[in-house]
Amino acid sequence: MHNDPSLNDPTASHDPSASDGVRVSDGLRTSDGVSTTGGVSTTDGLRGSGDLSADLAEAARVLSTATDVTLLAHVNPDADALGSALALGLVLHRRGAVVRVSFGAPAEVPETLRDLDVAGLLVPASAVPAAPPVLVALDTGSVGRLGPLADRVSTAGVVVVLDHHVSNPGFGHVNVVDDRAEATALVVLRLLDVLGVELDEPVARCVYAGLVTDTRSFRHASATTHEVAARLLAAGVDAEAVARPLMDSHPFGYLGMLAKVLSRACLERDAAGGLGFVHAVVTLEDAAGLRPEEVESVVDLVRTTAEAEVAAVLKELRPSSWSVSLRAVSAVDVREVAQLLGGGGHRLAAGYTAHGPADEVLESLRAALETVTARS
Ligand code: 5GP
Ligand code: MN
Repeated sequence: MHNDPSLNDPTASHDPSASDGVRVSDGLRTSDGVSTTGGVSTTDGLRGSGDLSADLAEAARVLSTATDVTLLAHVNPDADALGSALALGLVLHRRGAVVRVSFGAPAEVPETLRDLDVAGLLVPASAVPAAPPVLVALDTGSVGRLGPLADRVSTAGVVVVLDHHVSNPGFGHVNVVDDRAEATALVVLRLLDVLGVELDEPVARCVYAGLVTDTRSFRHASATTHEVAARLLAAGVDAEAVARPLMDSHPFGYLGMLAKVLSRACLERDAAGGLGFVHAVVTLEDAAGLRPEEVESVVDLVRTTAEAEVAAVLKELRPSSWSVSLRAVSAVDVREVAQLLGGGGHRLAAGYTAHGPADEVLESLRAALETVTARS
């Protein structure tokens, strides 16, 4: 059930910009699951209708009539978040809508993702309207992940959520959340198919960027998803040209940063319920002069430690403020660990934000790992 009954009615005219005095956002759910609707209970239907095809059709209906669409990726956007937003944004832009794509922070667009924006749709967070008529949140598992733009979820006319996080509470009016999709880009591609879009290279490239990243180069990809990849290649995507800048290209200074950070890495064989825990810390000093891309990729090396089921990298955001990346090989659900610490994510890749000295952050993380591994 959607919060706004009119969104379930296929006969209802739906002009999000219509000033009929009723704002569907009045029924929005807050992140703690409590409805903000005066007198109307919306405690059910958190995750859309439960019928993915119906939710997709609903999203397509909203977007095909929209004349002004704001697409938001999560903070510190990756290729899945921004690729998904740009793929859909490009299609809607070509159909004549006013389209802007943005994210709450940081101010800079990640260098490796800039080329995906062939139509100049990216705008700074400060250019996002105070009350966008139609807002689409992509790859964003919770309202908080929009960072400084989170308030737009309650000011927007209609909110469409396109995502693949199992923990997504369904914070939009229309929620297309497929936790079996390996990437949000796949959810977007299904939506494009419902919209009857013929794929071309710029759109397919955005989808491919999200897919290749979130599947770790198709290692976590079903047979059907490999078929999707074939379809994207057939649309003209140059796989190596997309993947190399995203995953395999760093300035020389990266090697020095790695040397410092990895030399301090620590293996705790008895931690994580005896399954092994490896961790590394990237301070602001380590990362000086490098891009977020270099810092984000550290976990991909740390996670290769054979003696550890769980890997963590603490990335210093500001003094004593950390973004923590968690990875598991197969046995530990790190999303549960991250959720205990205020974050979220997927079973084998999750994260959260923490404050305090690094050793205290690690101590809390060890404790959460014990809690989760003791459960299973
Ligand atoms: P990464 O380690 O690459 O930054 O994030 C891995 C996954 O964890 C992301 O896809 C995202 O789902 C989740 N994640 C990372 N940081 C946070 C956070 O601060 N809050 C929440 N809710 N999820 C996060
Ligand atoms: Mn994703």
